[in-house]
Amino acid sequence: MMPTGSAKTAGVIGQPIGHSLSPLMMAAWIRDAGIDAIYTPYLASPHMFAPVVHALFRAGLKGLNVTLPHKTEALTISHHISDRADRIGAANLLTYVDGQIHADNTDAVGFTRALTAAGHEIRGKSALVLGAGGAARAIVDGLVEAGVSSLTICNRSRERAEAIRNDLAPSARIGSWDDRNDALSGVDLVVNATSLGLRDQPELGMDWGLAGSGTVVADSVYVPLQTGFLKTAKAAGLETVDGLGMLIEQGKPSFEAFFGSSAPESTDVRALLIDTLEHRK
Ligand code: NDP
Repeated sequence: MMPTGSAKTAGVIGQPIGHSLSPLMMAAWIRDAGIDAIYTPYLASPHMFAPVVHALFRAGLKGLNVTLPHKTEALTISHHISDRADRIGAANLLTYVDGQIHADNTDAVGFTRALTAAGHEIRGKSALVLGAGGAARAIVDGLVEAGVSSLTICNRSRERAEAIRNDLAPSARIGSWDDRNDALSGVDLVVNATSLGLRDQPELGMDWGLAGSGTVVADSVYVPLQTGFLKTAKAAGLETVDGLGMLIEQGKPSFEAFFGSSAPESTDVRALLIDTLEHRK
């Protein structure tokens, strides 16, 4: 249906925001769910983040997805912070209920559900996470919640990996960045949670020689969809999971929080997003 004056409204806020695929994904779900709703992108500099969010909520917005660079700041303006957003130290979902801002993080379940949806078990598996920024924090939290048996974190700046261990995964092993290929030995799941491989960034060059044949290799980067990290893993005969699943799965609980109904499973958002990424080339 076309939106009316009583449409429920929500959006995504970030800087930059023009590249965000969330408005397209949400619009497709809104259309297929047949609900009276609108989802809009909002550009806000760090300086303007808090005033814009407050103004939007006072004007009736149900909620906001939060993207770079505001995910940490989102916590400081919230009245209620979920345990997982607090642990991760970042929120990608704000909802407005009875005049109060609630912060949550759906990136963690977004990652683990994407793996499960691709047919990969997490419980009892050993994992290697490359990176220690915001995405890595969410991914580590998701993996711990999902019951990994062991975890190694390798990051260029070791102290950020140690901070993740201290905050989220006390039994994690910290590997050195230069020895990340050695850390592949005996690992069931390897995740690129760095920004390496992102368009215009250098590739995360890996030597997959020590990876076992059943190792699953997942990327958080989805522009391009097939990063060098995934291409080389595939060429080495390993199974791969691209970053689009995480984006889609983090969006589903957000949709439900905004509009009170589930994102329709019948919508092929993956095909829609791939088509859009292809046309952006
Ligand atoms: P951050 O800036 O918080 O972290 C960047 C990470 O990349 C750090 O670990 C950093 O290491 C590492 N890094 C950057 N440059 C280099 C380099 N030259 N050599 C080695 N390591 C490097 O970014 P985010 O964690 O927010 O995002 C990381 C990626 O995750 C992005 O590509 C983003 O697109 C993706 N992402 C995907 C989502 C999805 O839904 N699929 C959701 C959120 C993010 P150091 O600590 O040493 O600086």
